[in-house]
Amino acid sequence: MADDETREPAGTAGKTGAKGAGRKPAARRAAKPESRVALVRRARRIYRELAEVYPYAHPELDFENPYQLLVATVLSAQTTDLRVNQTTPALFAKYPTPEDLATANPEEVEEILRPTGFFRAKTRSVMGLSKALVEQFGGEVPGKLEELVKLPGVGRKTAFVVLGNAFGRPGITVDTHFMRLVRRWRWTEASEPEKIEAEMSTLFPKRDWTMLSHYVIFHGRRICHARKPACGACPIADLCPAYGEGETDPEKAKKLLKYEKGGFPGQRLKPPQSYLDHGGIPAPPLGKE
Ligand code: SF4
Repeated sequence: MADDETREPAGTAGKTGAKGAGRKPAARRAAKPESRVALVRRARRIYRELAEVYPYAHPELDFENPYQLLVATVLSAQTTDLRVNQTTPALFAKYPTPEDLATANPEEVEEILRPTGFFRAKTRSVMGLSKALVEQFGGEVPGKLEELVKLPGVGRKTAFVVLGNAFGRPGITVDTHFMRLVRRWRWTEASEPEKIEAEMSTLFPKRDWTMLSHYVIFHGRRICHARKPACGACPIADLCPAYGEGETDPEKAKKLLKYEKGGFPGQRLKPPQSYLDHGGIPAPPLGKE
């Protein structure tokens, strides 16, 4: 679930769908203390605006069932979702079930997982995880948080990804993008994922938690980057106390946009139809970049 933040986009910038882009904003908001009511209102406005900008937001790992999503999420540590998506087709073609992976030859799994980095450790992880699924849950991925986090290598973040996207159970996924953005927006000052998760759960109704995670992560990957946020092309500039941390010139900011917002392919080889309908381009298979 890491991103290649160092990659500079090339080519023409695409539409941001950016209602607020270029608006002058929120620096003055930073000077005044914000009441709890104002914070909740602003947070929910940001949510609504992002929902308009990314109506096709979705998990960026390819998967066809809970088991595939669980394995893909574990593999996404320390690499991009793109690299995982380019690797898992071969893995799931050869080992379609937890039983198959639990009893695989580790060296053959390592060869398949090599492009994701840390492939020996990841082989141990996904084989251990598959074994636990077989031995403790009859080869099925459990749909409860307390059971998921008992699986080897599965923490709350991975569990919420699986619960939210494979089981439809609301969960907040606090990854590096989520942490960065909610702190920039002054939704929280916390820096521990569990504290952030708890605080965010009080700002939004439960039904919105999964999509909140997608909208925030989409925005972090496309516009509000770690090192060079594209403030001048940002649709929520007027709601953001951190406006100006990045490039404010609209033309220069547009050149910083990534994935479909910059006219580039996304991370999924098989994105949802809604992504394609909004001009998204599927990612290329391994070796075809
Ligand atoms: S820091 Fe800049 S890019 Fe990020 S949300 Fe604020 S205005 Fe937008």
